[in-house]
Amino acid sequence: MTKQITILGSTGSIGVQTLDVARMHHIRVWALTANRRIDLLEQQAREFQPELVAVLDKECAKRLRIALSDTTIQVLDGEEGILAAARYEKADTVVNAIVGVAGLKPTLEAIHAGKNIALANKETLVAAGKIVKAAVREAGVQLYPVDSEHSAIFQCLQGCPDNALKKLILTASGGAFFGKKRKDLMNVTVKEALQHPNWSMGSKITVDSATMMNKGLEVIEASWLFDVSDEQIDVLIHRESIIHSMIELKDHAVMAQLGVPDMRIPIQYALTYPQRLSSPVKELDLSVIATLTFSRPDTETFECLPICRQALRKGGLFPAVANAANEAAVQLFLEEKISFLEIPEIVGNTVARWNGHRDILYPEEILAADQEVRSAISR
Ligand code: NDP
Ligand code: MG
Repeated sequence: MTKQITILGSTGSIGVQTLDVARMHHIRVWALTANRRIDLLEQQAREFQPELVAVLDKECAKRLRIALSDTTIQVLDGEEGILAAARYEKADTVVNAIVGVAGLKPTLEAIHAGKNIALANKETLVAAGKIVKAAVREAGVQLYPVDSEHSAIFQCLQGCPDNALKKLILTASGGAFFGKKRKDLMNVTVKEALQHPNWSMGSKITVDSATMMNKGLEVIEASWLFDVSDEQIDVLIHRESIIHSMIELKDHAVMAQLGVPDMRIPIQYALTYPQRLSSPVKELDLSVIATLTFSRPDTETFECLPICRQALRKGGLFPAVANAANEAAVQLFLEEKISFLEIPEIVGNTVARWNGHRDILYPEEILAADQEVRSAISR
């Protein structure tokens, strides 16, 4: 492998699994970043010998600088440090595994520096799909999906003629509270919400799976990645997470991508496309799985999914506003300051009350709306 990469958010769930793939295929890693988890970042830096590491928190960066003083690795801090990693000259591809809209500026920085993007950070596309797509076109770079559903669709689309697609079928595990009704969700705890049936992920996306906001964000992400409207995206509950998503073609042929639930498959494909290399991931044995089940999502109980669809149809800043409200609400839920059902309530009310409908031209407009929404929700 001759790939040269930078990983933004290397200490998170996707970041660590990306380093697994890099280790296996001898992919050169030039820069790594984190927010505060410097012990793990130090360990990663010592193993992968990047030339640059960046830590958002300045105090943590100072401590890491001391810890790495016996090496030649440069340690930068703050937002400027993260942006320097995003544009670091020796990498050709930037894996964005930062959580939340904090990933937007680094994504744009990397695109403007001519890097291909392997994008796990779905909030970037949700909040600023139009701007990111335009920047990708202008810079002539590639945007590879890492999110498993979008990678599945991307894989199914290989060899498919341009005008053959009828619709996308995004599969959803249903999250920790599948089958529950609103009355069952009144008193659920943070610990219960963090118990995902099939995937081990960062806490924000695990809560998003429990509320099904994650699927709503993924509908918006898919609309930008594959240039399709809300009506062309179906969501299907599939508890086993074996079919990662499907496409239906005009002749009603349906293509699906299957595999054990392990993010290293989509991460690796984003880094090795169009090649297929060996993988440490377990083989899928369908005779053991035996049954694959499907059902419609319960949108009355899990309101975040229809709220996201509504935001997508309204366009402009609405998806960014829905995302900001969700990020703020999930944070409050994780801090045990609000209940689980207040998450959809806050997201729904924020979208319903937002009246700034207009086209967006600049990322600053998105980040300003994001800040406005967050400060209105903070407590
Ligand atoms: P984690 O919370 O596990 O990791 C997030 C990473 O981003 C960490 O390295 C963290 O640093 C860093 N980070 C956090 N906040 C900031 C910030 N404000 N600025 C810069 N860096 C920051 O998240 P995941 O790996 O689970 O998810 C990452 C992204 O990938 C999300 O957008 C998620 O939706 C998406 N995704 C994740 C999947 C998964 O399986 N985990 C599957 C599909 C998509 P530190 O460790 O120091 O806190
Ligand atoms: Mg996903």
